[in-house]
Amino acid sequence: AATMILVGVIAACAAPGRPPSVQARVDGLLARMTTTEKLEQLQLLPDSAVTDDEVRRGLGSVLSLTDPVEINRLQHLAVERSRLHIPMLFAFDTIHGFRTVFPIPLGAASSFDPSTVADDDRIGARESAAVGIKQIYGPMVDVSHEPRWGRIAEGGGEDPYLGSVLAAARVRAAQGDDYGAPDKVVASPKHYAAYGQPEGGRDYNTTDMSEQRLRNLYLPPFQAAVRAGAGTAMCSFNSLNGVPGCGNPYLETDILKREWGFDGFVESDWTAVAEMRACPPVLPADGPCGHGVAADGPDAAALALNAGTDSEMTSTLLRDYGARLLAQRRISPARLDDAVRRVLRVKFRAGLFEHPYVNVARAEAAQLRPDAVAAARRAASRSAVLLKNDGGTLPLDPARNTAVIGPLADDGHAMLGPWSGVGRDEDAVTVLHGIRAQSTGTTTYASACTLPHTDPPDYDPAADCTPDGFAAAVDTARRADQVVLALGESREMSGEAAARTSLDLPGRQQELIDAIAATGKPFVVVLFNGRPLTLQRVAASAPALLEAWFPGVQAGNAVADVLFGRVNPGGKLPVSFPRRLGQVPIYYNHEPTGRPCDTSQKWDSRYRDLDSCAPLYPFGYGLSYTTFAVTNLRLSSAGVRLGGRLRAWVDVTNTGRRTGDEVVQLYLHDPVASISQPVRRLRGFSRVTLPPGERRTVTFTLDRNDFGFYDNHGRYVVEPGRIDVFAGDSSTATLTRSFTVTR
Ligand code: BGC
Repeated sequence: AATMILVGVIAACAAPGRPPSVQARVDGLLARMTTTEKLEQLQLLPDSAVTDDEVRRGLGSVLSLTDPVEINRLQHLAVERSRLHIPMLFAFDTIHGFRTVFPIPLGAASSFDPSTVADDDRIGARESAAVGIKQIYGPMVDVSHEPRWGRIAEGGGEDPYLGSVLAAARVRAAQGDDYGAPDKVVASPKHYAAYGQPEGGRDYNTTDMSEQRLRNLYLPPFQAAVRAGAGTAMCSFNSLNGVPGCGNPYLETDILKREWGFDGFVESDWTAVAEMRACPPVLPADGPCGHGVAADGPDAAALALNAGTDSEMTSTLLRDYGARLLAQRRISPARLDDAVRRVLRVKFRAGLFEHPYVNVARAEAAQLRPDAVAAARRAASRSAVLLKNDGGTLPLDPARNTAVIGPLADDGHAMLGPWSGVGRDEDAVTVLHGIRAQSTGTTTYASACTLPHTDPPDYDPAADCTPDGFAAAVDTARRADQVVLALGESREMSGEAAARTSLDLPGRQQELIDAIAATGKPFVVVLFNGRPLTLQRVAASAPALLEAWFPGVQAGNAVADVLFGRVNPGGKLPVSFPRRLGQVPIYYNHEPTGRPCDTSQKWDSRYRDLDSCAPLYPFGYGLSYTTFAVTNLRLSSAGVRLGGRLRAWVDVTNTGRRTGDEVVQLYLHDPVASISQPVRRLRGFSRVTLPPGERRTVTFTLDRNDFGFYDNHGRYVVEPGRIDVFAGDSSTATLTRSFTVTR
């Protein structure tokens, strides 16, 4: 009978002959909801906390459930046993794949290729949707200049432009034109906002920055994600200028909802609403607390809802105190309804009312399909960055005898990286297996040491790569023709709550490199890690260095593709690699100072104990097995009006002997502005594949979105004057031209 009534209400709102609009359906449903039912819709619980009773009462969403049978069972309860029959939204952290694990996003960003990251989200959406998940907590689009922070692994690196292009590509791929389609999900860019710049690099820590920095560096990927149609968003744990992300009306309401016109819902991050409460003077507290911008639970709930948070994850303050807050007029019925509308709108658009259930029989078959595995392999090899290759050490000859050595050489678990969905260690092809499959010579193996997979408080740095096995490894190296050394960080060293105070290779891996170097055998260090590392010593002892990040399920095959030259590496760093930790934060798009660095003057902006301010490897850097020349930068005109357009052309030629990829990059600098402008800002890039001897002209179009910047009042301004253009193969590009912006 209830279904009949529901249908009746919906039909009443529809124009004759036409299906009712989403808005009419939302309004029809909302009109029938009690306060309790509204508050239930705003509640989002992890699978471990969900009870059948809860679902019958009308719970809104469930996170982290991945079993389609259980998803269907709970959905049946919601649809058939709750008073209003509203389906639940099931959500999951599909960050770089679901079952088919792709490279970590920082790695994928190295591809400088929107279609590579799009493959990841397209397949992640397909596999997630197949088990009944209709919302993913991704993409993670936090720009970060903090390599100590473990979550830099989850995002697109240090650049807002690259981050924006990739964020938009990921959202479009996950959602398609219509996230109600059976293989699509609603995306939730996170963590809004400025989570990527925590003080000291410690996760969840404070951020504090000027308006212009926030707008110019950290917000652009979120705006790009919203423009691409992101249906939901997640507010962040951290405070920004003293105000936590999930209680921040300026971020959530003024910018996201009003300025950008976002009509989806904002969910809090895990217990982030409760964390806004003050803690009692003597711990332990009764649940999460800390920021101290709310006195108690009710206060935190009111703050969150009034700021613009629509749905609460894990903590239940809004649900517990919402009715009381309404009675006390601390929250308004209109704002409560707005939040509920936003949630219902997403559920209608997701097609959950028409298709609440998942086809269990098809769920398994949708996982790890051959096209997905092939895409993961391609993504992993396109994400690899060749940092050094002295004397043509690479590619290796597959016919020679290869020793595969190192703690990560046969470690499938590590290859998946943090936040690896439901990926299984045994799905991952290890480096050893990948090399073995492609080598026609003998392949030998020695682990040399281990990088134990432990989290705090069990993590013991002294247990990382101890030298007991070094002698055996050296012996293995001596008996081979060439050596692949698989080193890096354990998977647990990156991701959430995984900050480090050192960016060196953990344990005694450097000694292992030195011991292998002493054998005189040609060798390559292949690095698996989730953040920029300090590689000065590594680069000094290794003739070849390949940054593979955490490459995902096809790690070993992709690495072998690159090492043996089936794939010519073409990735570029999406983040600067410092020489030493003390240089952090170090990023290419920094502002200039009145005192430059790297000069012989005493009163300069330099370090007393380091002879360079430059990173070891700059943003946009990466080598190839061939060589390229980027030449002939020209502009369509020497001047452009504020609202006009300008074209830049640049030629790229493969000057070497192999087919390869170059990422042609275009940077701008505004030398005179009311706010000191970054020395460079990436405003265009294009990854092109060229056979030897071939040349291609790459075209970039620039307009007012490229010429201006946000000021400290949050206004986007374009100021007349000269703008310098740089083009080349990294952020240190020297090819230059200028144009003038006029009124
Ligand atoms: C993380 C989010 C994630 C959520 C749900 C939180 O701890 O910060 O990124 O989406 O957990 O798993």
